[in-house]
Amino acid sequence: MQRTRQDELLASCLELLSWDELTYMPRAGAAQRGEQMALLSGIYHDRAVDARIGELLGELENSTLVGDPLAPAAVNVREIRRAHQRMSRVPRSLVEELARVTTLAQHEWEAARRESDFPRFRPWLQKVIVLKRREADALGYEADPYDALLEEHEPGARSTDLARLFDALRRELVPLVNRLTPPADMSVLRREYPLDRQESFGKAVAAALGFDFEAGRLDTTVHPFCSAIGPGDCRLATRYDVHDFSDAFFSILHEVGHGLYEQGLDPDHQGTPIGEVPSVALHESQARLWENTVGRSRPFWEHFYPRARAHFPGALGDVKLDDFHLAVNHVERSPIRATADEVTYNLHILVRFDLERALIAGNLEVAELPGAWNEAYRQYLGITPRSDAEGCLQDGHWGAGLIGYFPTYTLGNLFAAQLFSRAAVELADLDCSFARGRFDGLLGWLREKIYRQGHRYPAGRLIEQATGRPPDYRPFIEYLSNKYTALYSI
Ligand code: ZN
Repeated sequence: MQRTRQDELLASCLELLSWDELTYMPRAGAAQRGEQMALLSGIYHDRAVDARIGELLGELENSTLVGDPLAPAAVNVREIRRAHQRMSRVPRSLVEELARVTTLAQHEWEAARRESDFPRFRPWLQKVIVLKRREADALGYEADPYDALLEEHEPGARSTDLARLFDALRRELVPLVNRLTPPADMSVLRREYPLDRQESFGKAVAAALGFDFEAGRLDTTVHPFCSAIGPGDCRLATRYDVHDFSDAFFSILHEVGHGLYEQGLDPDHQGTPIGEVPSVALHESQARLWENTVGRSRPFWEHFYPRARAHFPGALGDVKLDDFHLAVNHVERSPIRATADEVTYNLHILVRFDLERALIAGNLEVAELPGAWNEAYRQYLGITPRSDAEGCLQDGHWGAGLIGYFPTYTLGNLFAAQLFSRAAVELADLDCSFARGRFDGLLGWLREKIYRQGHRYPAGRLIEQATGRPPDYRPFIEYLSNKYTALYSI
């Protein structure tokens, strides 16, 4: 275990370097930072694939230490074996080539998006897809090469199960979206919101939800993120726009959700696999739960709206709570995923899931992507992007080699709704607590059921343990139908 704690420290140093790169590092420091990161990543990789680890694991797996598969020692052996196996299967040459190609591909993607020039990005995406297929072959899979890539982000998930789940979800979502148009008026959110006040209001709400600023901070960046450096050090970052209340505020809540999970992990297991979050989707579920289920709810704003008005008298002085609440929940078919509302959001993900699966399976050529993208948007969202910049070039994930990552966003939304609906059954009067500014009941429940459990169970099992049901799309649909039927008075 001493060895995994040291690995964890190395990973923590990498995390701190990358946090600094995204917040305060002067631009001219990029080359030196690249060298620092490459050196530490190389050391980390070499340690992880060391054959001696395989031998040690072999000894442990035959010992009484793993007798109870849910005991911390057994969970740690299980997870170290999984990570060791995955990393050892991919040859170092492929790891290096992927790192090199994705760095350049991201660069080309940025330029291609700026100019809405898909042909510029096409050869790079082609290279990434070829390398990711090679990676999937090296990792191994049963039926679908996509599963090997999905496993990196959502251990245990299988694409055929996801396809079934997502199909059912789509059949419910499309008619719901159709009922919720035209969109509500959200112009009040575009008034003037002074930046320093946005920051102080965001921090006050974060603290009220339970984020511990003695063990964390909030800084400014380009793309919002949460960085868990280690015990007692969890850093959030967001961006501010004086004419946009929602972007900064809800991204702070989103990152606070990630941060509450990190701050709620069991300190006794820090630095070992059982003390970690089991999957990307589960992490995302907490971000979405605090951002949307809590942060866009009526009781939440019953408490915070008078405070928001006091912070922003110029923008909100003449706006009623009802109108403000409707504005932060407006639903609109837009071509852009990152700013989509919680009703249409998953349709954006379903498009990406279908297309990336087809690309990896060889059923879709990279050259055909823009056409296939636009056709899927027409079918799923009833709109056609006006350009590739607001179409298939909008996200950087594929250029960065992140394939099999998108589904975790939708799974996270489904997990969030399922957990919240269970918490609402077990905890009386959540709405009244929120309206009084009390969030500790919900946070305590999530800590006990999810955060403190660490990686004892895979994500799907943990959801089942916490809610009594395997992962299901229905609580999410119920949540949306109830909320938006009332909001849009339909
Ligand atoms: Zn997130």
